[in-house]
Amino acid sequence: MSKVVYNFSAGPCVLPKQATEAAAAAIADFAGTGIGIMEMSHRTKPIEGMVAETEELLRELLFIPSGYEILFLGGGASLQFCMAPMNLLDSNANADYTDTGVWANKALKEAKRFGKVNVVCSSKESVYNHIPKSFEQTPGAAYLHITSNNTIYGTQWKEFPKANTYLVCDMSSDILSRSVDISKFGLIYAGAQKNMGPAGVAVVIVRSDILGKAEREIPTMLDYRTHIAEKSMFNTPPVFSIYVMNRVLHWLKNLGGVAAMEKTNIKKANLLYEALDSSKLFKGTAAKEDRSTMNVPFVLNPEFVSEDKKEALEKELLKSAAEKGLEQLKGHRSVGGFRASIYNAMPIEGVEALVGFLQDAELRFFTLLSNS
Ligand SMILES: *Cc1c(COP(=O)(O)O)cnc(C)c1O
Repeated sequence: MSKVVYNFSAGPCVLPKQATEAAAAAIADFAGTGIGIMEMSHRTKPIEGMVAETEELLRELLFIPSGYEILFLGGGASLQFCMAPMNLLDSNANADYTDTGVWANKALKEAKRFGKVNVVCSSKESVYNHIPKSFEQTPGAAYLHITSNNTIYGTQWKEFPKANTYLVCDMSSDILSRSVDISKFGLIYAGAQKNMGPAGVAVVIVRSDILGKAEREIPTMLDYRTHIAEKSMFNTPPVFSIYVMNRVLHWLKNLGGVAAMEKTNIKKANLLYEALDSSKLFKGTAAKEDRSTMNVPFVLNPEFVSEDKKEALEKELLKSAAEKGLEQLKGHRSVGGFRASIYNAMPIEGVEALVGFLQDAELRFFTLLSNS
C-alpha cells in the first residue's frame, strides 16, 4: 500500500475519495449506459437528470429559498468578477466593494469597467491580515460585494455585513463549509475547485428579481437570463466537472450536510490554531477574530528565525513534511511561509498529523538551538 498523503493545497484541492472513485468509474461507463460520461451528449436523459439532481442537492444542502436560480457556468469565479457587474450595475450607478484580498481586489477592478465602484474598506496596507468591518455604505449603491473567505490571507467574514440592498458574494473558498442565510444575498458565485469539486465549473446562485435592470446590451453568453432560461444548457456545460461535484454533494449529504460539516471544520481549525498559538516557532498571520476555518497561513517566528536563515529552514520543513505525506504546505508568495488549506474533504486525521509534525519540528529546532 502507498503511504497516506494529506494534501493541503489551496486549490484545486483534496476531494473525497468516494467522489474521485465514482468519477473514475463514470469515465468508463456512466450510470450503466455502457458509454463514458465524457462521451455522452448533454442533451441525453441521464446527463440532464444528473445536472438537475446536482441543482436539487445544492438547493437542499444550502437551504436555497424559492426565487433563486442555480447555474453551472464555465469561466471560473474570475468570469463572475465581470459577469456580475455587467448584469447588475448600470454605467452611471454605484456599487460598494470591500477590498479584503487579492481576489476581492480583482473583483473590484473588473467592476470599474461597468459602473462606479466605491471601495468602502480595505486592509491592503496590512497585507490583508484582517477583515475591515466598520465602514459606511454609499447611499443608492446597487449592491455590496464581499469575498466571504480570503483564500490567500486566511481571513473570513464571520458575520456578513448587512447590505442596504443585497450582497454579492464570492464564496469560492468556503461555500458548503458553514451554514449561511442565503436570503441576505442577491448573488453568490463560487469556482468549484476550492471546496466543491474540480476546476471547470462555477456555481452561481442568483435571486432572479435583481436581473434585467441594467440597461446595457449584454452578450448572450454573459447574460444570466440566458442560462436560467436554458437550465445551464444554452451551450455544452462542463458535464464531467458537474458530475464530480454531484458526487461531492452526495458525500456531504451522507455526512449530515452543511451543519455537520461546519462542526467538523471548526474542530479542525481550532486544533490547528491552538497548536499555532501555543507554538514559539510558528505563528499565524491572520487577526484572531477573523481567522478562516478553511485556509491557515503561518510563518516562522522572526524572534527566533532571522531573515537570512528563514528561507533555508522553510525549505527544509516543507521537504520533511512532504516525506511524511504532508503535501502542498508552501505559503502563497504574498504572505510567505506556510499555508494549510483544510477544506471539507481534509479529514481531521490530516490536521492531527500536521499538528504532530509542527510540534516535532519545534522540539527539534529548540533542542538544536540550545545545543549550539
Ligand atoms: C481561487 C479563487 C478565485 C479564482 O477562481 P477561478 O475559478 O480560478 O477563477 C476567486 N475567488 C476566490 C476567493 C478564490 O479563492
